[in-house]
Amino acid sequence: MGKEKSEDKRRWGEKRYYSLDYYLKHTFGEKVYKITLNGGMTCPNRDGHIGRGGCIFCSAAGSGDFAGDAALSITEQLRKGKADLLSKRPVRSYIAYFQAFTNTYAPVPYLERIFTEALDDPEVKVLSIATRPDCLGDDVMELLSRLNRIRPVWVELGLQTIHPDTARYIRRGYELPVFEEAVKRLRAAGIPVIVHVILFLPGESREQMLGTIDYLNRAGIQGIKLQLLHVLRGTDLAREYGKAPFHVPDMEEYIELLGTCIARLNPETVIHRLTGDGPKDLLIAPAWTGAKRTVLNRLNQYLKENDIWQGKEYYG
Ligand code: SF4
Repeated sequence: MGKEKSEDKRRWGEKRYYSLDYYLKHTFGEKVYKITLNGGMTCPNRDGHIGRGGCIFCSAAGSGDFAGDAALSITEQLRKGKADLLSKRPVRSYIAYFQAFTNTYAPVPYLERIFTEALDDPEVKVLSIATRPDCLGDDVMELLSRLNRIRPVWVELGLQTIHPDTARYIRRGYELPVFEEAVKRLRAAGIPVIVHVILFLPGESREQMLGTIDYLNRAGIQGIKLQLLHVLRGTDLAREYGKAPFHVPDMEEYIELLGTCIARLNPETVIHRLTGDGPKDLLIAPAWTGAKRTVLNRLNQYLKENDIWQGKEYYG
């Protein structure tokens, strides 16, 4: 086991963790950039099918605050996203990321049309679809499996926590077995699963947060997005925070927890995100998360100072 640990420590280039950037460069031979898209869908947790208020932290844009304009076609959104990226650097490869709301919550012919429109662009190397585990019916799975044979399809699931009390508090609207079943079916179809986790949800202890990481190590997933809870203006969470402010960590507390999560995480799991990207004009707390580069630099320094790398504590 000691040998495996020292190999893990070396294998992600500059970083002490398996970053998405590293994965993409080694899989596609170059940097691949994400373009966030809006497929014009809603969410069953907002339209009354499951709930009306949505998840307690979710912004009016359905957690897609940086996604494209739904009034534009997918081709136009891609063109605009490319123009923005190309104005800063030369880019040839993209991930078409359907981010806003629930991106499998529509009739399958419509989904097929918008996903195919993205894949018609030869520079789109990956189709990444953010959705809920309870919105993956057989017909949707059949479509995703078919598209996955044309180009890689990733599915991103918003789990946030494994703990039932917190899941109820955030009004997630599904139980853990629904997530487990979705992961099983996606993996059977050969589709990589990326799971969103929110750290420092109100009332969760350190042990509970690490419990979610340990659970995901056993869940057979391929990627993880870790994010600190953001209190965004206009959300029910912001109203709760206004009435009775709950604990939000400072940067050092967050970095320390992230370091422990990274040490515990399966070294085969690709880390897609380590800190949030909340829209600055909506962000109420914690204000320091707006300085994303500072947070990542401090994290890398912390990992080095404490000789932490992904999987250090995974092998036990
Ligand atoms: S499932 Fe996603 S889009 Fe729907 S309310 Fe929750 S966070 Fe928002």
